[in-house]
Amino acid sequence: VDGLLEVDGLVIDLPAAGGGVRVVDRVTFDIPPATTVGLIGESGSGKTMTANAVIGLLPDGAVTGGHLRWRGSPGEDLLQASPARRRRLRGHEIAMIFQDPLAALNPTQTIGRQVGEILRRAGRPRAEVRGRVLELLERAGIPEPAARMRSYPHEFSGGMRQRAMIALALAGSPALLLADEPTTALDVTVQARILRLLRSIQEEQGLAMLLVSHDLRVVAHVAHQVVVMYAGRVAERGPTGAVLAAPAHPYSRALVESVPAVRSRTALAHPLPGTPATPANRPPGCAFHPRCPLARERCRTEEPPARPVAPGRWAACHFAEELLPR
Ligand code: SF4
Repeated sequence: VDGLLEVDGLVIDLPAAGGGVRVVDRVTFDIPPATTVGLIGESGSGKTMTANAVIGLLPDGAVTGGHLRWRGSPGEDLLQASPARRRRLRGHEIAMIFQDPLAALNPTQTIGRQVGEILRRAGRPRAEVRGRVLELLERAGIPEPAARMRSYPHEFSGGMRQRAMIALALAGSPALLLADEPTTALDVTVQARILRLLRSIQEEQGLAMLLVSHDLRVVAHVAHQVVVMYAGRVAERGPTGAVLAAPAHPYSRALVESVPAVRSRTALAHPLPGTPATPANRPPGCAFHPRCPLARERCRTEEPPARPVAPGRWAACHFAEELLPR
């Protein structure tokens, strides 16, 4: 296996009143080098928990199973790494950008200083730091970087702050960038610009990216591969184009039909029926069965395993073949 990161059978349990809740259940996918993987699902699907496990932001003991193999198997399991190793990985080999840049930026330091600090910690000689800060701000699309590096985060607009956070993330020269709903808080035009920026950075620098989003349009725009999550499990995964053109899971199909612009500008939108199952009240059998138009008796009792359904594609549906073109 030559994935940069292999998520293998990841299980996350969180404490809850009346016993623990399994919020992520045997989630498996890999992120090849220089590839963007979109992790998509409604709230409660486990997508953010999965990303937080990768970056090491979950409370101790929350991950109860699986492996996060870094740079190939058997390689290094991030779940077994020492706290010092995790800290070194975070911000350098693996960097993260969040929905809310203010949570990641220090309000009391100028943007230039914050980016410079990461470069210094990464061992850049002092004499090179200013030039590299300017390069990074420019790469993140911040105009007049020599002037803007002296600004504080509160002096930036929402879109500019997101660009500053991207510059900060790139400062450690990461191999993997985790982006959790990076454009959700922005207006539509700024969203499109930030997505274009992320895509061009990913392509030019050969970065791998894990893009977490509830918005299929965002994933369709940027991701090479998509992982669709439902109620803590993977419903389907595969190349984005193939999954969007012919979803192999009724849940992915419902997602695609709820956003017709993903496939055609003329089709009508069909909102997703019913309410999402959550890990705390996951129905037995296939968790999607109460909302599924194809559900049959078997679906109520027998959980469908994720299985290969076409080259490079996996789906957790007993009847996936019925959805695929023959
Ligand atoms: Fe629908 Fe059954 Fe497939 Fe689940 S296993 S998605 S209920 S057809």
